[in-house]
Amino acid sequence: MSAVVLESVLSCPHCAFASRETMPLDACRFFHECPACGTVFAPLPGDCCVFCSYGSVPCPPVQQRRAAAGLEAREPGAACC
Ligand SMILES: [Zn+2]
Repeated sequence: MSAVVLESVLSCPHCAFASRETMPLDACRFFHECPACGTVFAPLPGDCCVFCSYGSVPCPPVQQRRAAAGLEAREPGAACC
């Protein structure tokens, strides 16, 4: 069982600014305000949180689910939280 990563680098879909964010262990974040341009962005359709859509790693519940299913963290196909 691989360790859960709690830091994700979010890339703003508007200005591409990347910010390192710490994720809560058991919750998703639906909205994120870009610190550079102020754009508030939401998950893409089918994703549960901004980390799954725009982060370098998906949120902890998804990481755990994918690890349990034997999938790589970035591999598509695992259900979102
Ligand atoms: Zn931005």
